[in-house]
Amino acid sequence: MFKSILIANRGEIACRIARTAKRLGLRTIAVYSDADADALHVRACDEAHRIGPAPAGESYLLIDNLIEVARAARADCVHPGYGFLSENARFAEACAEAGMVFVGPPPDAIRAMGLKDRAKALMEKAGVPVVPGYHGEQQDPKLLKRKAYEKGYPALIKAVAGGGGKGMRRVDKHADFDAALESAMREAQSSFGDSRVLIEKYVLSPRHIEIQVFADTHGNAIHLNERDCSLQRRHQKVIEEAPAPGMSAELREKMGSAAVAAAMAVGYVGAGTVEFIADGAQGLKADAFWFMEMNTRLQVEHPVTEMITGLDLVEWQLRVAAGDRLPLAQVDVPLRGHAVEARLYAEDPERGFLPSTGKIVALEFPQGEGLRIDSGVEAGGEVTPYYDPMIAKVIAHAPSREQALDRLAAALEKTVVAGPRTNAGFLARLAKAPEFRAGKFDTGFIDANLIDLGAVEQPLDHAAVACGAERLIAGIAEIIVARRDPEIPQSPWDDGDGFQLAGSRLQNVAITVDGKPARAQVQYSNGKAHVTFEGISPDLSARAIEAPNAVYVLHNGHQIVVGLRDFDSIDTDHIGGDGLVRAPMHGKVLALLVERGQKVGKGHRVAIVEAMKMEHALTAPLDGIVAEIAVSVGGQVAEGAMVMVIKAEEDKSG
Ligand code: ADP
Repeated sequence: MFKSILIANRGEIACRIARTAKRLGLRTIAVYSDADADALHVRACDEAHRIGPAPAGESYLLIDNLIEVARAARADCVHPGYGFLSENARFAEACAEAGMVFVGPPPDAIRAMGLKDRAKALMEKAGVPVVPGYHGEQQDPKLLKRKAYEKGYPALIKAVAGGGGKGMRRVDKHADFDAALESAMREAQSSFGDSRVLIEKYVLSPRHIEIQVFADTHGNAIHLNERDCSLQRRHQKVIEEAPAPGMSAELREKMGSAAVAAAMAVGYVGAGTVEFIADGAQGLKADAFWFMEMNTRLQVEHPVTEMITGLDLVEWQLRVAAGDRLPLAQVDVPLRGHAVEARLYAEDPERGFLPSTGKIVALEFPQGEGLRIDSGVEAGGEVTPYYDPMIAKVIAHAPSREQALDRLAAALEKTVVAGPRTNAGFLARLAKAPEFRAGKFDTGFIDANLIDLGAVEQPLDHAAVACGAERLIAGIAEIIVARRDPEIPQSPWDDGDGFQLAGSRLQNVAITVDGKPARAQVQYSNGKAHVTFEGISPDLSARAIEAPNAVYVLHNGHQIVVGLRDFDSIDTDHIGGDGLVRAPMHGKVLALLVERGQKVGKGHRVAIVEAMKMEHALTAPLDGIVAEIAVSVGGQVAEGAMVMVIKAEEDKSG
């Protein structure tokens, strides 16, 4: 076995690899970009080395930097995790050239499976069923169109270099083909630098079923059962489970053998996943599954397989890389109970699943029998716009599918994330969806049920706002008392708001709800504050988490941030309209286009904020004067934070 390992990755997978490597007695070496200097994976390892600035292209994707660090740290082997350089044959070669073992397949096997057209041709030769279509060399649009017509619609255009669902277009009618081809090729060119595509028959009622395979350097290859990853959004997996609902022992044996044959055909070594698409219209059938592609690395969803087999796949990877034989024969591979994994993301299902980055104010996961949480972040940490915004994988295992899904749903409901918005509530509803529970689903399930799953804009939750306001007011009552001290002149509460501790009349308190101005009502009687929001009392089942400037309220799987309007720095009541310019999401201030005191017109660009690798121009909400600038160039801004205040022009006279 090796003595040391460099983990060329970050986040939960780097932490997960470190866990096994440490158990096996290896010295663990982490790498990090500037954005990850304080990340969990850095502390999960025995030592850590900086590899470059935050953007992945300048750090986690730089082969030379990684090799240099690995060499200096005297790493025996390098584990690439998933994503980043995990399927980069050149990186595998560079490791070997530097005298280190790449924990993964030989470079030739990576290359053979790297392009979908070549892989399909190879698989056909090896007798593995492939999706009918055209995957030849020719790219003449007329020929491609004819091929689609011959194979029949609906058709699927796929980038040969594709990944992550990019460069993929479904075409339902012959008349739509040209436009779809053009946009698929354009996206393929910009995403992969390779515009070539292949044509496939679009499988109706598609189920995504994949087989985990393992091969050693002694010519042995086995499979570790299947995973069903049919719950997808935009061709990206959301929930994965094993075994696949409706899978028979005979079909498992048939798909498993096909997957092992696929691995053998390319001289595979280590962990790999052979992905099949199955036609689930009439349940899973022996003659209705086809090879899609092989992922030549550890998958995000590998814990599902670990839970039903009781095996540690990272340990197997390390043993195989060290030259050991596979520890089990095919007949001895266990299959116990049912496991299901949900990918918890910092994203907002109500707003088109837009990534929601920022500081993690609170993070709590439940513990319990059959529950596993693989996380790469912690409270106080940050979800940055630079990388995949996954917070954790929540995995549940139980004797039956029903129980596993119950466990998963309960765990998701108990999960607390404050700060970024997450898909926790959405995932819990998915785990409880009756049709999914009944096994009646395919890859279109999520898109067809967005409303039932709560992935559309919801009406404002008044009871949650009231809960947040109540918490804030409980906190400020003391401040108000303190401010009434004659030593402290001029409390801002004395003017404008008419806020009083005595009496029982309804009074307004200026608050912000998700950054927007609002008013809560408070009534003091019998020495207690009773808070309502638009007549609704606080819901006591909501969870309120206090942060320095706001209260995060979690209720029914949603988050609402309630703050106090800051009267000390801005007199919002005297701004004509809402003259506040706020950051649309967490990001970095790239440029300030105006100065304090400058006159601006409505719609005038005042600042540029970079978030999620995109630039967002902030504009003046009204005609006026720049009264205050709250940020500086290069600084970070939180979602909803004030960037500047524009004062309406009429105010000048007053
Ligand atoms: P990528 O490499 O971009 O992830 P894949 O070939 O793995 O692309 O396909 C991703 C997803 O697209 C699959 O899981 C499946 O949901 C869908 N898909 C792919 N091929 C087909 C097909 N022929 N018919 C229907 N759906 C398909």
